[in-house]
Amino acid sequence: MTRVATPGDLRVAFVGAGPGEADLITLRGAQRLQNADVVLFDSLADPALRQLAPNARWIDVGKRGFTGVAHAPRGGRENTGQDTINALLVKHALSGAKVVRLKGGDPSVFGRLEEELEALAAAGIECEVVPGVTAALAAAAATQRPLTRRGTGRSVALTTAMTKTGELTAGRHADTESFYMAGKHLAALSRRLAAAGWPAGTPALVVSRAGWPDQIASEHSVASLGDATVLHSGRPTVVTVGVGASAVGTPGKHGDPGRTAHSTATGTATAAVSSGAHASAGTSTP
Ligand code: SAH
Repeated sequence: MTRVATPGDLRVAFVGAGPGEADLITLRGAQRLQNADVVLFDSLADPALRQLAPNARWIDVGKRGFTGVAHAPRGGRENTGQDTINALLVKHALSGAKVVRLKGGDPSVFGRLEEELEALAAAGIECEVVPGVTAALAAAAATQRPLTRRGTGRSVALTTAMTKTGELTAGRHADTESFYMAGKHLAALSRRLAAAGWPAGTPALVVSRAGWPDQIASEHSVASLGDATVLHSGRPTVVTVGVGASAVGTPGKHGDPGRTAHSTATGTATAAVSSGAHASAGTSTP
């Protein structure tokens, strides 16, 4: 039998914040935040989301371990371990508070949702999951490169190249494959992809900080993926390989959404490039 509970009345909601700026959250997610007493958030969620729940207690449970995500230690405090997060969720839910567990992107994609659902289930606490935009979809949108293509791109895989033990692996599972958590290891990923049977000239698209104003995209091939290392260094990065990585139409038309480069206050070049043909130095075109 399927349990039916009224969404919104549940004490815990896992909410996908989306991968970038606050307005990528869903309306449902925003509504859950507005009702929250306590928000447990991680490092990838836009701080601007606080405006949706100014009176809630916001608790930073940011973890490191996300390759490519710049995460400065706050006040000398160490990472919050998964067990602590689980315990906090249960504690606040049992106190009667309405709890939102805010996760970057979508909670169901590389979000450790499984452990947190198990912890709540063990405590007999019902919850709901509100989906969000995952990084691979934001990267596809940013570059106007659909992940599926009629006739040629019939399958998409979301893959993490990192194993639990910190080893880098890669296979070939779909026509388009999006790799998470590999930003620090692009040269190694290139070698693993080749070993897994991807032809050297296969398009490979690298997008960092997708969904943010300073998103950067650069296009490569499986063989030249390592060239993207410096450009995307220290930024959350997703790598799309295969059919969905190639530009649609002629460059400058559909392939280039026409964004222009600009500089940040720190003077760092942060070109919001979307077609690799216009990416900053250090990139290459297959
Ligand atoms: N739940 C998240 C993924 C968390 S794992 C989601 O659905 O998007 C963290 C990894 O996600 C990062 O190492 C990076 O590979 C990817 N990622 C998260 N935000 C990103 C962004 N804005 N741009 C590019 N990649 C991102």
